[in-house]
Amino acid sequence: MLSTHSLNSCDSRPQHWPAFSGPFRAAQCVALAILLLQSLVPPSAADESQPPPRPDVLLVTIDCLRADHAGCYGYGRNTTPNLDALARRGVRFDSAFASSSWTLPSVGSLMTGRHPPIHGAVAMDRPLRRSVPTMAELLGKAGYSTGAIVNIAYSAPGLGLGRGFDFYETFRPEIFARTDHLLWLTTRLQFALIWLLGRSRKNATPAAADAVHLTEAARSWLNSASDRPRFSWVHYLDPHFPYEKHEPHYSEFHPEPVPEGIPDFTRGTWPTDVVESIDAFTPEMKRHAMALYDSEVRYTDEAIGRLLESLDLTRTVVILTADHGEEFGEHGRLDHGHNLNQELIRVPLVIAGPSWPAGRVVTLPVSLVDLLPTVLEIAGVPPAPTDGVPLQTMLNPSPANAARAIWSVAQTGPSDHGTYSLIRDRWHGILEIPPSGDKDATTVFYDWRNDRDEQRHWPGMPEELRLLERELWRFYQEMKVILATPGNEPIELDADSIKRLKSLGYLR
Ligand SMILES: [Zn+2]
Repeated sequence: MLSTHSLNSCDSRPQHWPAFSGPFRAAQCVALAILLLQSLVPPSAADESQPPPRPDVLLVTIDCLRADHAGCYGYGRNTTPNLDALARRGVRFDSAFASSSWTLPSVGSLMTGRHPPIHGAVAMDRPLRRSVPTMAELLGKAGYSTGAIVNIAYSAPGLGLGRGFDFYETFRPEIFARTDHLLWLTTRLQFALIWLLGRSRKNATPAAADAVHLTEAARSWLNSASDRPRFSWVHYLDPHFPYEKHEPHYSEFHPEPVPEGIPDFTRGTWPTDVVESIDAFTPEMKRHAMALYDSEVRYTDEAIGRLLESLDLTRTVVILTADHGEEFGEHGRLDHGHNLNQELIRVPLVIAGPSWPAGRVVTLPVSLVDLLPTVLEIAGVPPAPTDGVPLQTMLNPSPANAARAIWSVAQTGPSDHGTYSLIRDRWHGILEIPPSGDKDATTVFYDWRNDRDEQRHWPGMPEELRLLERELWRFYQEMKVILATPGNEPIELDADSIKRLKSLGYLR
């Protein structure tokens, strides 16, 4: 800190300065005083016409990566060295929750900051409502250059996840590149539809892409010239079923030989293609399937390491997260999208870059709907309507931050039945509305802080939980009304898609 004495007198000069006198000494004092005064004026006040440059924002999402399979979240296997390194350079959110347990509604919430029934993309052919702005639209209007390089099933322009991107490069998911005709024929119609809907008419890349190919495409975009700040979104699909085997990681995670009779989890479109029922899913199968999945996670993490190595973290904010997790029989199912337990909604979330303190860990629950207000604040863009809060507030949380409710919704169709989840403090309540209606609804509660795998329903219903149950019902009733409002009518298949479906035998 400079003292006033040093401003008023040149006699405080260090001893090794040359001793001038007369006009030289006067000029020296004036010059020094000007320099010192300039150093005390804040940069913003010094030149208000030149605001500080806005940082680039890179959003990386990984399909199906559950938080508890990442090293910095306590996993015993070395699956995510690059994510772990990023967490050491930034803020790790230990309790981050997706807004749904399957891709379209979850990424829709991330991109709009709204709960799934509000943004409207709650079924595979239901788009984001036009009235709900996306992150890319808001940043684009504010002068950002926007680009998406995504290997994602729901990339069809009509669904809205690509809305607002100047550059939108979609890849054919790797899982559709595999050619087993018998499996193709037994594949569910819905996934074929996803693929056909998911092929972007603009910038569509015919080749299938795994994490390595996707990274190269993303690096090209990130290294291209731009005189504007840049918002980029990269989505990796590799940990999604089927689970490709990546060596040497698989053998490291599963050193013992694979027992006889273990099904092939590297093929098919759903786990149920290879395992008849959850009762047939043995502990050996689970170890094998998890080692394959972990090898996919490690493979993706290494590609992300290459993506990040070319970035300047002094001018780029990196946000790394997942759209949802993956179940391996913890609650009687495989895959994802069907429930809202921890293995399906707790996701990794790390933010690193300018203004994000290195090595911080936030333990309060946060939601992916928080990312829209967070990114707007990073970019200096005025707030938009949202169900989230800027995560910057979590660095010095208020009592309101600690008491807030974290909501998730799992629906696979436009009807109101589905699953609704509320996390508040130590409690996690799940309200399930079956197709038969509200009269058959069930609610369960877990003490998720102390029962991280949610294996024990909380017995009884103390007053605290009754209040939460009422809150769950209130949220469900509100969402039901919102869901019925127009604006997210199903998108129609274009002529090319219908032709392809006919050629595959799915349509007559
Ligand atoms: Zn997904």
